Amino acid sequence: MKTRKMFVIGIFAVILTLTFAACDEDNDFTCTHDWGNWFGENMPTCTEPSSGTITRNCKNAGCNETQESKDILPALEHDMQPTENIQKHPTCTEEGLGELACARDGCNHTEEGEVIEPLEHLVKNWEIVTTPFINGKEIRICQRNDCNEAEERDAPSTEGLTFTLINNNTAYSVSTDRVTPLNATVVIIPAEHNGLPVTQIANDAFSGSPRITGIFIPEGIMSIGNNAFRNCTVLTGVILPESVTVIGGAFSRCTNLTITCNSNFITENGVLYNKEKTLLISAYNVSETFVVPNSVTSIGDYAFSYCRGLTSITLPDSLTSIGDRAFYDCNGLTSITLPDSVTSIGDYAFWGCTGLTSITLPNSLTSIGAYAFSYCTGLTNIILPDSVTRIDTAAFQNCTGLTSIIIPESVPYIGNGLLRGCTSLTSITLRRAYNLLSIMSWELGDFATVQSGAGTYTTTNPGNNATWTKVE
Ligand SMILES: [Zn+2]
Ligand SMILES: [Zn+2]
Ligand SMILES: [Zn+2]
Repeated sequence: MKTRKMFVIGIFAVILTLTFAACDEDNDFTCTHDWGNWFGENMPTCTEPSSGTITRNCKNAGCNETQESKDILPALEHDMQPTENIQKHPTCTEEGLGELACARDGCNHTEEGEVIEPLEHLVKNWEIVTTPFINGKEIRICQRNDCNEAEERDAPSTEGLTFTLINNNTAYSVSTDRVTPLNATVVIIPAEHNGLPVTQIANDAFSGSPRITGIFIPEGIMSIGNNAFRNCTVLTGVILPESVTVIGGAFSRCTNLTITCNSNFITENGVLYNKEKTLLISAYNVSETFVVPNSVTSIGDYAFSYCRGLTSITLPDSLTSIGDRAFYDCNGLTSITLPDSVTSIGDYAFWGCTGLTSITLPNSLTSIGAYAFSYCTGLTNIILPDSVTRIDTAAFQNCTGLTSIIIPESVPYIGNGLLRGCTSLTSITLRRAYNLLSIMSWELGDFATVQSGAGTYTTTNPGNNATWTKVE
């Protein structure tokens, strides 16, 4: 019973509501209009208020009421929203700006948007600086348009270098494994290795890596060994730091080399000298003929070694010593006159000078080093002056063209094998008593007949099995 009563009240309430909601012109005060949006010819925009008459309609069903107004509707203001556009692109160093645009129809207003962080530099690999010279730095340059910013840092030590402790384990000598050539064509030697200074470039250090085109020698390197850069024919530049004071015959056949000297050295016509120009250190790019300047007193070890294009050399009266291997393997050299000032010829000094057909040894000469003229196969005759007091081991070994030799009385010492392998020899004159066997060979049995004592020995069957006969 109670439920039914509530239902009736509910129905009545609905009917009453519908009656009041309806808009009737006669019943304006009981009507609630549901006004739509204002419209008109000049509605407000983002920036301008409305103008003229504006109108709105009631949306209630059956109500045709409209309202007009001349009230001004205010400007809407922009509805700024971020867009994908970028007003200012960021660079490597400067911020960029995004864009905001008004979302309202017909409004093209835009504004600066959010700040965009600067970009990272767009870099490629580090490259060792080689121009204008190798300075131990490496550089990388940003590839982005208009940036070109360059970063520089100390170049890391080249991989594959070998370091050997020297000087009572207080420093290192640098070289390469000769069996495994360096991959690098530009070499950076570090100033330090394992906390110790690198002070030396070893003998033969880079002769097994002939592809290197450049090398950085750091301050702190004090010496550069013999043959250190032999055969580095494409090495174009070496800068000597001030710390370098000793250099051996380091640059044989470095025919494209320019050496930038420190205050201890000079170069002239493809040859490196000490600054006083008394020591000729290394001939790296000499032509066929060469005149040694007359300030030079010593031709250093390995100085002209492997200069196979050298055919003629003129030595000055100032010269006193010719170093070890000074003309080693100069097989293009055809004749040489040693001036009257020369006192010593080093070990292997003319080894393998197969083109030499004559050599004049001066009266000033006192010592001839081991193997000094070995394999000078073109020599037919050697006259040893009375000034010579020492001839070391195998000095004329394998001079296969030599037919006669006179060893003066002035020589108390002759090394073993002096004339070993001189298979054309038919006459040997000894002014003192020597052991002929040891002169001819240190391998017993090379000679069928062994005789000693001063005198002249001849043979009619020259060669390793010669039978020597003393003739006077
Ligand atoms: Zn209405
Ligand atoms: Zn707008
Ligand atoms: Zn950049």
